[in-house]
Amino acid sequence: MSPKALKTGGEVDSYCTKCKLVLNHRIIAMVGTRPVRVECSTCNSHHNFRATAPGVKGAASSGSGGTVVTRSSTPRATRGPTKAAQAVMDREKMWEKAIAGKAMSDFRVYRVSLVFQEGDLIRHSKFGDGVVTRIIDNAKIEILFKDEARTLAQGLM
Ligand SMILES: [Zn+2]
Repeated sequence: MSPKALKTGGEVDSYCTKCKLVLNHRIIAMVGTRPVRVECSTCNSHHNFRATAPGVKGAASSGSGGTVVTRSSTPRATRGPTKAAQAVMDREKMWEKAIAGKAMSDFRVYRVSLVFQEGDLIRHSKFGDGVVTRIIDNAKIEILFKDEARTLAQGLM
């Protein structure tokens, strides 16, 4: 059971046919509970929803034996609202701690062509201020924004 119900206008990770990466997308159209059309948050292109990259069989099939973290069976025993609320609070606290007391000049305006490092402060035109929490690979980073953590592209030409 997904704790987050998908809806039109909501967000979902989808493979972008233009960026050629699984990235954060906005849902444009749904059929039932499944998104069918999405808009890429990185390049703004519209395309069909695709949960995984073509030719990728499951996770961790790529890479050169590096640190690939796969958590296919994360135990999600309790899904009470208190735990979810706690997670949101923890995330907001983490975000505030990262952003607090930082000068405007400490933030870099997000662009897909830039390359980031963990801990970099980001200003995104849509999502606002964020902090890079994880370098997924040389083309993808995870950024913690106030409302949500998102996967965005980096280092694209
Ligand atoms: Zn894209």
